[in-house]
Amino acid sequence: MYDAKFVYGNFILIDVTDEKEKKKVVALLSGGLDSQLAVRMMQEQGFDVSAVAIKTPFCDFDCGRGCGFEIRERADDLNVNLKTVYLGDEYIEMLKNPKHGIGAGFNPCIDCRSMMFDAAKKHMDEIGAEFIISGEVLGQRPMSQHAPALRTIEKESGLVGKIVRPLSAGLLPSTDPEKEGLIKREELGMIKGRTRKNQLQMAKEYGIENPPNAGGGCLLTDPAFGIKAKDLFEHTKIPTINDIDLLKIGRHFRLDEQTKLVVGRNKDENEMIKAIALPGDILLEAKDHVGPISILRGKNAQNHVRFASSVTLRYSDAPKEGQGVVNVNSDNLSEEVSTQRAIEQDYIKFRI
Ligand code: SF4
Repeated sequence: MYDAKFVYGNFILIDVTDEKEKKKVVALLSGGLDSQLAVRMMQEQGFDVSAVAIKTPFCDFDCGRGCGFEIRERADDLNVNLKTVYLGDEYIEMLKNPKHGIGAGFNPCIDCRSMMFDAAKKHMDEIGAEFIISGEVLGQRPMSQHAPALRTIEKESGLVGKIVRPLSAGLLPSTDPEKEGLIKREELGMIKGRTRKNQLQMAKEYGIENPPNAGGGCLLTDPAFGIKAKDLFEHTKIPTINDIDLLKIGRHFRLDEQTKLVVGRNKDENEMIKAIALPGDILLEAKDHVGPISILRGKNAQNHVRFASSVTLRYSDAPKEGQGVVNVNSDNLSEEVSTQRAIEQDYIKFRI
């Protein structure tokens, strides 16, 4: 309620504007088009939307401009507050044994979404919001966006009736805010499936420029990454964020149950390998030739120095024939190993 007084001649005019306080809603914002549209739809229905963005160790949103930059831009465009929640160790813990299994890669989508909604629920309680919205579209993703999966996610996160998926809500059971008359069902979407035709049309209507491409953003859905992640979780009791960062770069070789070799593929990866190296890791680099930096990690790393040297030389510019020298360094070791380039049949069987 706003009272404004204007003095006009000998009269005082009082302007009373009865502005109803907007109800609050929390949106899970992914940076994709669908969640932006969901926000716009709720704003159009008169809600004050706050966004929560979730990052996990497997997000691949980075655009080279810094972590989370892209999503902050989206939030600014939408004119919503943004809270970023990082799910780190607890996410890794879940990934060791996801209750609802994994998809075609190593993606535990149902458990992952449940954790995301759980984080959004905390924010909802903190700010006194009425419900949560997301850009999920019925039938768009095979693992987590069919009707039973959507219900499971609601149950797991303790949010039955409190999650509204505005793009598909017209096809889904009524939610609490609909029953309470907070939102109008007839203004909710009935979008289904993988086509983006409707969303692109809506983007045009809402003036969302350069709508982002569909998919992407999660390394766990990438089959090649999934194989490496699976290998890590099978061989390491408690993988660390550092182990996961190492999964994102290089060529990976499983040398034994407890030891791995990772060989850089370019200059940037070489720098990252050096930055990721921990006490106990062994770094290798050809002495006289341009080539990769490799990292040997694991309990038996010392036993594999000679072989890892030959593989490192193989991926360098060293000539195919003859010997080369590889510098081998760790916190308690610094030596030069003279070796030949490994031949494919000797190392390819270890490639993950
Ligand atoms: S694709 Fe990745 S981020 Fe998305 S729900 Fe699945 S596991 Fe989670």
